[in-house]
Amino acid sequence: MPKIVLVVATHNQGKMREYNLLLREFPIEIKGFSDFQEIPGFEEKGSTFDEIAINKAQFASKMLDIPALADDSGLVVEALNGAPGIFSARYAGNSADDYQNNLKLLENMNGKEKRDATFVCSIAIARPDGQVLTYTGRCSGRILRKPEGTHGFGYDPLFYYPPLRKAFAQLSAEEKNRVSHRGNAMRKLADDFENILAWLEDR
Ligand code: IMP
Repeated sequence: MPKIVLVVATHNQGKMREYNLLLREFPIEIKGFSDFQEIPGFEEKGSTFDEIAINKAQFASKMLDIPALADDSGLVVEALNGAPGIFSARYAGNSADDYQNNLKLLENMNGKEKRDATFVCSIAIARPDGQVLTYTGRCSGRILRKPEGTHGFGYDPLFYYPPLRKAFAQLSAEEKNRVSHRGNAMRKLADDFENILAWLEDR
């Protein structure tokens, strides 16, 4: 039987490496957007991480007529009514970088005693017929009063993970992956992958 081809809806090579590693034991060929010539721009649609991941996966799957995987992630801060949430990448503006986003988070958390926060990652797999499966991972911690550590990206320097008594930016990539929202979502996906393969072949 020919191998199933799965496209990961991203141009990000780091993400591609992670999914290749995670799914390496399965009889599947993984491609990224950079393996295809003309991918039209995709405007994120949806009001939750799940919805955005689902829309992205369905868009890619319909367009290329093969199964597609997409993810969406961000930081949910209780004292900010869930912000930055689905706007995590552009919290301080459309072209904001990590430094500016972190600064805005610190400013908005100024004087707040309740500092609980959760990283969330949703992964969706869609078939060309529109059917979809989702896997969600979470990781809970607290927002620090100043940045700690130099590893990682995004809000890692401000996210304190109590079980390890460190900020995410103080962990190695492997340490972070073992406990992170993305790691947790990916492990759920990998644990269910035999079922996913059957579901993909069933179309
Ligand atoms: P996306 O899922 O790649 O669109 O990421 C959304 C945004 O959420 C990123 O740009 C970061 O600001 C934030 N984010 C998601 N995951 C992490 C993480 O593991 N550490 C720090 N920030 C993250």
